[in-house]
Amino acid sequence: MAIIRDQAIILHSIKHGDSSLILHVLGREHGRESIIAKGARSKKPRFGAALELMTHSEIIYSHRHTREIQMLREARVINSFLPIRNDLERTALGLAVCELLRMVTPVAEMSTDIFDISIHALEAISNAKKNVRNHFWRFELDLFRPLGIGLTISNCLHCGKKLSSLQGNEVEFDSINGAVRCPECKTSGGMSIPMETFKILEFLNRSKPQAVENIKISPRAEKGIKSALWLHFRTHLPIRRELKSLQALSWSI
Ligand SMILES: [Zn+2]
Repeated sequence: MAIIRDQAIILHSIKHGDSSLILHVLGREHGRESIIAKGARSKKPRFGAALELMTHSEIIYSHRHTREIQMLREARVINSFLPIRNDLERTALGLAVCELLRMVTPVAEMSTDIFDISIHALEAISNAKKNVRNHFWRFELDLFRPLGIGLTISNCLHCGKKLSSLQGNEVEFDSINGAVRCPECKTSGGMSIPMETFKILEFLNRSKPQAVENIKISPRAEKGIKSALWLHFRTHLPIRRELKSLQALSWSI
């Protein structure tokens, strides 16, 4: 048996027995774990707020390879992301980060990059002054890279022309290659994206993380971005359903 100390994001929890919780966490060094927190729901909870969903916590647990569920010993909060909990839109986005990580991490080669990108996304969603959703689309784009499916969309896949200066009504998104083709090179095999939407996607992909909230995205463009990013996930990973957490926002996406 080993005693492991790690940073973790609490992705999901299930009540167990009278007073315990079974947690699904994403650890920075150790990846996905299922951990039982005994006494977490007793009258005197042992771990305070450290086991709340979406919390960035430091955890200490005992680990046995022969066991599917590990045993929590100690936990303390590093960041609760309080503004996420006090606002419906931010809550939906924070939960969507956790939901997406639950879908992606069982099949992904784990890396500390995935953890760090996720913490940055939760911080950005927590601290955004405006256009908070843009940080979620940026999170998806950032997550593609450690998964080995990063987008290279600055230039046309076929002729190499720089796309940000291009005229035309639409470009073609090729989700298999994570690339785009210009209007002259387009085939019929990809997804058509209006030029306006594509330029926003390209900006979100390359701008500094803090800068993404500076642009206002129209509902129509947002819908296109959401569809393109989701198509890319579904092309490369065995993901069957859409994110439930985003349905709370569906009135305007
Ligand atoms: Zn081209």
